[in-house]
Formats: sequence, C-alpha cells, structure tokens
Amino acid sequence: MNDWNIQSRARACEACGKPFADQEVYHTVLSEEKADLRRSDICAGCWEKQFSDGARDRKGFISYWQGIYEAPPPVVDAIHKDTAETLFENSSSKTTRAIYPPPTSSRSCSNANASSR
Ligand SMILES: [Zn+2]
Repeated sequence: MNDWNIQSRARACEACGKPFADQEVYHTVLSEEKADLRRSDICAGCWEKQFSDGARDRKGFISYWQGIYEAPPPVVDAIHKDTAETLFENSSSKTTRAIYPPPTSSRSCSNANASSR
C-alpha cells in the first residue's frame, strides 16, 4: 500500500502564475504522473480556457474538485516597508559618495584640502 504524498494547495494558479485572491474559486486536478500524484491548482479563467474540456480525459487523471481559496491572514508589513525604504536611502547616499570620491589631484594638495570644506 502506497503512502501518497499529496501537495498542499498552491497559492497561485499553476497555468498563469497569478496568485489566488481571497474567496476566489479555484479548480484542482489530481493526476498520476509516473509513481507520484500530481496536484494542479488552476484559476477559474485558465480552467475555462485550457482545462475544462479535456481535464478528465487526460492521462493519469484521478480526481477533480473545485474549492474556494481562503487567503492566509494578511501580514502587517508597513513597518518593514518603511525600514526597507530608509535602508535604501541610506545605502544610496553611501553609494553616491563612493561613486564620486573627492578629487585626488597631486597638482595642489594644500588647495584641495582647504577648498573641500
Ligand atoms: Zn490561471
């Protein structure tokens, strides 16, 4: 007796890569591929365009069902975003300094030092 290892529900459509929205209807096809079960989660649009006709006739088809996607609770990332922007500003000003180093002219060292402030 095999112990099937079915993938958990995907967070995005397998066909178009679009993340499922909360409460969006999704379609799942379970099929057998070699010795493994393959689970495909498909958004409604792709399902109608690409899968609804022949999904059940595909090789290895085992099961199909339809479900409602429930998005995981939203992650509060406003603080992280602000931090990231601050970090970006800091690093970009450092980069600017690195790109434009003070002139190192051997022509008149004393003058350059005096005028740099
Ligand atoms: Zn899709």
